[in-house]
Amino acid sequence: MKKSKDTRFIIIGAGAAGLTAAETLLNKGYTNVIILEKESFAGGKCRSVEYEGRSYELGAGIISANNKTIMDLVEIYEVPIKPVVFGQDNLFDLETGGVCPDTLSFPDKFSFFWQLLLRYHRLLLQFPKVQEPGLAQCELELFDNFHHWAKMNNIPLVEDKFERFFTGFGYGYWEEVPAAYTLKYNDWASLVSYMRRAIYIFPEGIQGLWKKIADRHKVFYNTSIKRIARKENVITIDTDKQQLRADVLMLTCPLEETFCFMDTTKAEAELFSKIKYTEYITYLCRLENFPNQTGFIPAHFSPSKKGHPVFWYKRYTDTNIYTLYVLSDFTVSDAAMFHNIEECISKLGGSLIKVEQIVKWKYFPHVDTQDMQDGFYPKLESIQGFNNTYYLGELLNFSTVELSAVYAKNLVERFF
Ligand SMILES: Cc1cc2nc3c(=O)[nH]c(=O)nc-3n(C[C@H](O)[C@H](O)[C@H](O)COP(=O)(O)OP(=O)(O)OC[C@H]3O[C@@H](n4cnc5c(N)ncnc54)[C@H](O)[C@@H]3O)c2cc1C
Repeated sequence: MKKSKDTRFIIIGAGAAGLTAAETLLNKGYTNVIILEKESFAGGKCRSVEYEGRSYELGAGIISANNKTIMDLVEIYEVPIKPVVFGQDNLFDLETGGVCPDTLSFPDKFSFFWQLLLRYHRLLLQFPKVQEPGLAQCELELFDNFHHWAKMNNIPLVEDKFERFFTGFGYGYWEEVPAAYTLKYNDWASLVSYMRRAIYIFPEGIQGLWKKIADRHKVFYNTSIKRIARKENVITIDTDKQQLRADVLMLTCPLEETFCFMDTTKAEAELFSKIKYTEYITYLCRLENFPNQTGFIPAHFSPSKKGHPVFWYKRYTDTNIYTLYVLSDFTVSDAAMFHNIEECISKLGGSLIKVEQIVKWKYFPHVDTQDMQDGFYPKLESIQGFNNTYYLGELLNFSTVELSAVYAKNLVERFF
């Protein structure tokens, strides 16, 4: 149903999804769009900070050449990007404190490429629907966890190679996450970009892109939502500062958090209560005698190692500042995680001088195999627009900047 151009839209959240939705609405001629943001800044999980005159990423950092939605915005808003400089193989062994020996012999390397180029590529062609925006149309076979699915399809070396970019990047463990998410993330265009090394960072910080976009829109920062009531086609939103009325509401915030302020329906409550998250924590630290490169810690790619660091990023080779990433599940204490970090740094030959900043992310909203089988995504899609309310954000597609933006853009194009 197309709406009149003076329809009043309120979007909750000024992250990649909310701002892409606002941008798409504005480009379609809708001018009455307000974004409510609880923080004092735009960007959400695209969070950049400056230290000693240089930018560091606490959230998202890289995009690939095939990320067309973001690449278009980068061009329109003239935000600089530059190719990532890849180092050598960077899996680290905690036993020896050095780089893991290359476990793939020449025949194994050949088998890996065979599994990737023939088997995995063919599998992607068999499951085209998972590549469309959203997950409601996704093929049933992909509800199984990725570990089991990869075993059934005889791609163990692909599973092994992908793990660092999945578990290392905070998306949980193969045994726990449906294959649908992995296939969305590891689509063929992204893999080709990685193989071509067409991967980019934002030298001035990715948040700058969203700040520039936000400046074009009406964003109310530092806003705390007290109540949302949806009645007779009018949505009333009480914030700590004012009362607003809207015709359409778009939610990009964690949906289960709306229980505190929105008149959630029974259908919404049932679905929102299924959403799961990983806890992914970024530590910006100064280290001494630590490997002068980016690295993964495969010994911690296991549910039994929750609360341990899985990855670190060295953005500049001429500083001693690193970002370390811990994957957890909200059950491990801060003190235990700090101990794990110190121990890990020491096993790799370094020492921790200072933690400059910590950000704890409630990350990767997703559902498990059972809830996918029970129709979580088709059910959520079926209530899009009910009470003039729409759901978007990373849960609906997958937790990357591009996939969050793609879904937001597609949702606006579908409904308005
Ligand atoms: C450490 C880390 C590294 C990452 N690395 C990459 C990467 O390299 N490449 C990549 O593509 N992706 C990466 N991602 C994922 C990517 O950042 C996210 O998937 C994407 O930015 C999500 O956008 P979103 O708008 O859906 O959600 P968010 O970015 O979470 O935005 C939601 C917004 O809503 C606001 N909000 C929440 N509740 C309320 C409320 N009640 N009222 C008002 N406002 C509210 C929040 O403050 C936030 O601004 C990374 C994420 C993390 C955490």
